[in-house]
Amino acid sequence: MRDVYDAVILGSGHNSLILQAYLGRSGLSTVCLEPRAVAGGGLETVENPVGSGFFHNTHSFYHRGLTRLPWYSDLNLRQHGAEYLEPELNVALITADGRALEWWTQFEKTVESFAQFSRRDAGALQRWCERFRPIVQNILVPEAQAPPLPLDQRRALLSETEEGRVLLKVSELSPLEFVRQEFEHPAIQAGLLFFNGLREVDLRCRGFGHHIPALLASGRMAQMCVGGVRRLADALIAAVREAGGEIALRTTPRQIRIEDGCVIGVETTDGAFVRARRLVASGLNPHQTFLDLIEPDQLPAPVAEKARNFQYNFIAPLFALNVNLREAPQYQAAERCPELKDAFMVILGLDRPEQFEDIVGHHEAGAIPPTVMWGTCPTRFDASQAPPGRHTAFMWEKTPYRLEGDPQNWDRAKEEHGRVLLRKWSEYAPNIESATLAAFTASPLDVERTLPNMKHGDLLVGAFNNGQVGFHRPFAGAGHYRGILKGLYLCGSSCHPGGNITGLPGYNCAQVVLADLGIAAPWMPRPIADQLKRG
Ligand SMILES: Cc1cc2nc3c(=O)[nH]c(=O)nc-3n(C[C@H](O)[C@H](O)[C@H](O)COP(=O)(O)OP(=O)(O)OC[C@H]3O[C@@H](n4cnc5c(N)ncnc54)[C@H](O)[C@@H]3O)c2cc1C
Repeated sequence: MRDVYDAVILGSGHNSLILQAYLGRSGLSTVCLEPRAVAGGGLETVENPVGSGFFHNTHSFYHRGLTRLPWYSDLNLRQHGAEYLEPELNVALITADGRALEWWTQFEKTVESFAQFSRRDAGALQRWCERFRPIVQNILVPEAQAPPLPLDQRRALLSETEEGRVLLKVSELSPLEFVRQEFEHPAIQAGLLFFNGLREVDLRCRGFGHHIPALLASGRMAQMCVGGVRRLADALIAAVREAGGEIALRTTPRQIRIEDGCVIGVETTDGAFVRARRLVASGLNPHQTFLDLIEPDQLPAPVAEKARNFQYNFIAPLFALNVNLREAPQYQAAERCPELKDAFMVILGLDRPEQFEDIVGHHEAGAIPPTVMWGTCPTRFDASQAPPGRHTAFMWEKTPYRLEGDPQNWDRAKEEHGRVLLRKWSEYAPNIESATLAAFTASPLDVERTLPNMKHGDLLVGAFNNGQVGFHRPFAGAGHYRGILKGLYLCGSSCHPGGNITGLPGYNCAQVVLADLGIAAPWMPRPIADQLKRG
């Protein structure tokens, strides 16, 4: 590591690496500081046990529509080794009566599956998809891929078009209100709420009613990275290096240094100082960036207050059970629905929308909710992640971070809870217990220990309530990736459009940084206000 770079980037999550690659391609010298021994944050594939040939994706696995994201092609990630599969039977919800509600890459097959539960709901699905396809294409995708507009300006622009007006109207609802209003079958309502919302927003929250039709209409299916998600991290690292960037591993930032109100570099815990000629960009959460890394007397009091008030998503934390298998799970329901053998994401234990309230209630009480779980057997699609003839699989479940009031309780509870989950899984796939050669679990506390930016195990790095959306993410009026202090930028999931492997906080931050530096780049989209002015 040298003493001075144009840009110093904190944390090596995919958003940071994307920003770094774009800045490097524009001729800036860059370094990324990462405390861990590996770069890539939530793009982690581990061999467990070491030397066994069984590989597990311990953080993210489902990468929705990833190959359609602009940075995937801009940064030549396919050529750098990140290859993706998109299994046709993308999601299957197995109901208590052994049927399956299915989402296919072919829309007509999804409609057929809905029709087996309710003809009326199949019609609603078609109608909402048709209605929302242009909204997704002309509004929501461009908005996700650009720095957000101030709310008044956005509302005014959207009000000018029919598509915009429909979007504003549907957004007024909560996801719960939307499904109850538009769909009738409990399993369909529950499936839509789960698949299109439960992971991200409090379903009771108004302002998110458009999430479900938007996701249905987007056609962006869950994809998996061949060889494990680590390959995407490696491809991003290759893109960073190709652009002249450096990544300093096992290097922990201690303080962002500020002189005359301007960020000048970063001091590390081993006493080094890296000067930043142009900027420091943080891929961390607001607590880390503003409260842990900046001296209190350097930070305007209202900013410190806003950082303290930043909220995490209390229903986002996951408990994971990972298994090494002698054979793939065989679902009993496949006797009736043979296509389930090739199902990618399988959801178990969910039949009614009321279960959502139960899950929230259990989270509030610090208790593990009755099991609703989802997972995949990746090796059915990519044999390279296990020894020949063997398999890996996982199940995830929403559990509270503060188990019985204290996250430390997870250390004594997690192994037993893993066994409970395995038994529950065997009710749907009776061979799973005898096929299991080895298993390991990860609790919400383990998630936070591995990636401390996921405070309280919030894998989305910030709730979408508390107004923390769009132009108000992470703080009111601060959704522009500029970190208030001169020379400081924010590029992690605490910024618009939020967590998950979308890379868009990093992509959007790159647009802002280069515009501020007066550097034109051929890949940059037109300003979002121009894109929305369609008339
Ligand atoms: C169990 C689990 C399952 C998930 N499943 C999915 C999924 O299927 N699909 C999906 O899209 N998303 C999933 N996610 C969420 C996804 O992993 C995250 O939203 C995403 O990784 C966030 O990306 P990021 O670039 O903001 O930062 P991260 O990937 O969180 O990376 C942050 C980086 O910063 C580093 N860091 C932390 N603290 C400091 C510090 N003080 N100083 C410097 N560096 C620091 C970390 O070591 C890390 O390298 C899952 C997450 C978990 C935990």
